[in-house]
Amino acid sequence: MPFCEECAKYWAPSAMREDGSCPSCGRVLEAPKVASTTPSHRRVTAENIDIRRLASGDVESEAKAPWHFKLLVVALCLYLGWRVVDLFL
Ligand SMILES: [Zn+2]
Repeated sequence: MPFCEECAKYWAPSAMREDGSCPSCGRVLEAPKVASTTPSHRRVTAENIDIRRLASGDVESEAKAPWHFKLLVVALCLYLGWRVVDLFL
């Protein structure tokens, strides 16, 4: 969803002007969609399929690592770092 920094507001693509500019300040937020002329249900090809999105089952939001996974990675780094330090003690 396009975000206008000037107005600190998110705009639905349908709420914006035809040329993709902000309805209140006129800043161009998004290039006008050429894709609107193409059908929404395109053929699935190797170029346009998003395997990671399909695998996660999360169609709405962008694929993102959960916080506990990051915590696990940090803990692993600390542990392995300690093991390296331990070698020289
Ligand atoms: Zn604006």
